[in-house]
Amino acid sequence: MSTNTTLRSLLSGTTLPQNEAKILLAFVLEKHYQLPRSALLSRDEMELNPQALEQWRNLELKRLSGEPIAYLVGKRGFHEIELYVAPGVLIPRPETEILIEIALREIQKLNRPANILDLGTGSGAIALAIAHSAPQVLVTATDQSLEALAIANINAEQLGLSNRVQFAQGSWYGALKEVIQFDVILSNPPYIAAGDTHLNEGDLRFEPASALTDGAGGLSCLETIISQVDPYLKLGGLVAVEHGFDQSEAIVNLMKVAQLEEIQVHRDLAGHCRAVSGRKSKS
Ligand code: GLN
Repeated sequence: MSTNTTLRSLLSGTTLPQNEAKILLAFVLEKHYQLPRSALLSRDEMELNPQALEQWRNLELKRLSGEPIAYLVGKRGFHEIELYVAPGVLIPRPETEILIEIALREIQKLNRPANILDLGTGSGAIALAIAHSAPQVLVTATDQSLEALAIANINAEQLGLSNRVQFAQGSWYGALKEVIQFDVILSNPPYIAAGDTHLNEGDLRFEPASALTDGAGGLSCLETIISQVDPYLKLGGLVAVEHGFDQSEAIVNLMKVAQLEEIQVHRDLAGHCRAVSGRKSKS
């Protein structure tokens, strides 16, 4: 039996895609040897000790059975921050950075300390990315899940943002103890229809169902958020939501019904409609 456990042979011997194997092996190196990822190359003849080897085998098996990389290494980069993630929260997706860009543009235009609401914050991704990039803003972030709020709290502390991001537990606006008016309201709610086959694919199989699907046709949370937004927006305030690739027409309609103005559809880098924003009338 081969006892060759050098980094090079572990990488060449795995059936995982190389980019994934490298992320997991770099994680093991960092944890057991405090070595940077570059050691995969510069020390490719290094042998792993038995504990490190066991962890690598364990991670390799879990990944082969489909567990998301982000859960295995406990982190995911999002916009300009890194977030701790665990199975109680949705793994932040690059497409959600559209909401960050929309919000940061608006905050810059306002040119005064703005207050922001992030509904259904999960890991805290949206709230914390904005607080990180816009040092003047105050953010309120809600979630129904206490498990998610615990994770979001850890992230706020790790990022040194606890003083400007406040968390509240509850369903959508119900999490707010009183009616407060915000400059910008954002949400990436669950929008996948119950029974959609995507729920049985890839990372989604391991993520909390309550963060992915509304358990109905996909639009019910988006409808709640948009139809009830008015009292929570300042005059001229902006609301922006992420949605599924085929939902933008429905969201535009919901915003029209809610009498929002300047309704805009935003596309992701792949050209898919991914978010819609609308503005409360200025008078
Ligand atoms: N964007 C995620 C996906 O399609 C879904 C996230 C959500 O439901 N908000 O994988």
